[in-house]
Amino acid sequence: MSPIKVLDSAIQNKIAAGEVVERPSSVVKELVENSIDAHATQVEVFIEESGMKQIRIVDNGDGIHHTDGPLLFQRHATSKIDTDYDLFQIRSLGFRGEALASIGAVAKVTVETKHSAGNPVFIRFEGGSLIEQIPGKERQGTDITITDLFFNTPARLKYMRSMRTESGKIIDIIQRMALANPNISFRLVLDGQEKVMTKGNGNLKEVISDIYGLNVARHAVEIDAHDADFEIRGYAIRPEINRSNRNYLNISVNRRFIKNFRLSQSIVNGYHTLLPKDKSPIVVIDITMDPKLVDVNVHPSKIEVRFSKERELNRLLESAIGTHVKNEMLIPDVSREKPRRQ
Ligand code: ADP
Ligand code: MG
Repeated sequence: MSPIKVLDSAIQNKIAAGEVVERPSSVVKELVENSIDAHATQVEVFIEESGMKQIRIVDNGDGIHHTDGPLLFQRHATSKIDTDYDLFQIRSLGFRGEALASIGAVAKVTVETKHSAGNPVFIRFEGGSLIEQIPGKERQGTDITITDLFFNTPARLKYMRSMRTESGKIIDIIQRMALANPNISFRLVLDGQEKVMTKGNGNLKEVISDIYGLNVARHAVEIDAHDADFEIRGYAIRPEINRSNRNYLNISVNRRFIKNFRLSQSIVNGYHTLLPKDKSPIVVIDITMDPKLVDVNVHPSKIEVRFSKERELNRLLESAIGTHVKNEMLIPDVSREKPRRQ
C-alpha cells in the first residue's frame, strides 16, 4: 500500500457529492433551501429533462456579495453558522456549506447574483474549478443554473439516465416546501409546463388548494395546539377525503419539511377509527420549537431529524389531531350537501 495522503479538494468534493447531491431532486432541494435562507419571497424553478439537462433557480433574495465568489464553491464555507454552539441550534435550512461545493464538483454551474452592498457578478464554475468571475447584470437576488449534472461521474450519469421517477420527486419537494412556507411564492416549470404555483400571501389554506385542489382545502380542519415546548399549526383534512399512502403527510419543523415515521404514526393514530382501513390522511402541519430541541445534523440530506423530547411531541401531535378532527366530525360536512332549491 502507498502512504496515507490527504486528497485534493476536487476529489474531496466529488466524494461528498455522492451523498449531498445524490440525484437531480436533491440539487433542486439544496438550491431552493439556499433561496429560502436568503429571505426570498419568490422562488422560480425551471427544469429540463428531469434536471439532467438543466436546473435553474431564480430568487429575489439577499443575493451573494461579489467578494464571496471564490468561497461559494468551497466545502464547509457557509454564511450561516460560526461556532459549534450554532450547530446545536440551527435556524437556517442550510448550515453544512457543502451543497454548492458538491454540485460544482459534478456539474457546470453559472451564478448571476447581486447583494445590496456589492456589485452584480456573474460566476462560472465547472467540475470543481472556477472558470470565470466577471461583472454581471443588475438584478435583485440570485439566478443559478446547473447543466450537465454528473458529466464527470459516469456511473451516476448512466444510472440517472435510466430513471423515470425524477420529475415526480422534484414536484414532491417543491410542493412540500411550498406547504411549509406559505409566505413564499413558488413556481415550478417542468419542460415548459407549469406544475406548481403558489401565491406566497401567507394563507396556508390557499396553498393547500393550489397543491391539492379546492375540494381538499374545503375539507381542511384547522390544527392549533401547543405545550411549553412545541407549537403545532396547520390543517388536517377531514377523514372522508383520504389517500392510499402516506405521501400526503406534510410535516415541517421550524419550516423545514421532514420525514419522520413516528410523527406520521401519531397523525394516523390521531384520526383513530375515523379513517377507512388502509387509508391515510392528508395533513399539513408545521411544528415550531426551540432549535435546541431538534438535531438536523443527522444526514447530509437534512430530511431526517432527531428530537430530544420525542415522546412528548408525539403525544401532543396525536391529541391535537384527535381532538380537532373529532370535534369537526360532530359538525356535518356542509360542503357535500346538495344545494337547496330556492
Ligand atoms: P450552506 O447553505 O450550508 O451555507 P451552500 O453550499 O448551499 O451551503 O451555500 C454556500 C453559501 O452560498 C451560503 O452559506 C450562502 O451564503 C451562499 N448562497 C448560496 N445560494 C444563495 C442564494 N440563492 N442567495 C444568497 N446566498 C446564497
Ligand atoms: Mg445550502
